[in-house]
Amino acid sequence: MVHRLLQQVTFWTALLSLDQELAAKARQAGCSCGGVLHRADFLRKPRGGPPDLPAEYCYRFSFCCNREDCRKRVTPPSVRFLDRKVYLHAVIILVAALRQGPTPRRVRELSKLFGADRRTIVRWQIFWKEQFPQTAFWKVTRGFLLPAVDAASLPLELLRRFLFGHDSDPTSGWKKLLLFLSPITVTGGLKS
Ligand SMILES: [Zn+2]
Repeated sequence: MVHRLLQQVTFWTALLSLDQELAAKARQAGCSCGGVLHRADFLRKPRGGPPDLPAEYCYRFSFCCNREDCRKRVTPPSVRFLDRKVYLHAVIILVAALRQGPTPRRVRELSKLFGADRRTIVRWQIFWKEQFPQTAFWKVTRGFLLPAVDAASLPLELLRRFLFGHDSDPTSGWKKLLLFLSPITVTGGLKS
């Protein structure tokens, strides 16, 4: 059962470490003005995961430049959060993928598993069908995926590509997929 993994805290802890690494890298790079970055996280109330997520899941890591004449905000890419969406990114991908294929999961069943209502699930399907294929990110990166991925098969085909061959440890495939998609999680990342 492909959704079981997302109900395990260990999966989300692994993603948290990855976000911590991405945040550390951004902090080390500092502000483009040469200033030092200080923590200035955004509060989040993430949905779709298990009830006992690590406390850090209440924060989307972000920084602010310490120079008074700059104060620029730097928000590193994330493998947990997508833009300002409240549901966790992996949930948005998985639920949309489970609605595809020859025997799509019923909306009612997915609502029960992940707590998202029908309208939200339909929004995610529209996001993958209409918004994501139009992003500059996809237009560039689709060229790296061989054989080519048909936009109509998103996001199911991405899951297949990244998780295939990782059957014994799908977490590593998920990490690769979420890292691959992480550029879309920053401000302007979904620009077309
Ligand atoms: Zn600065």
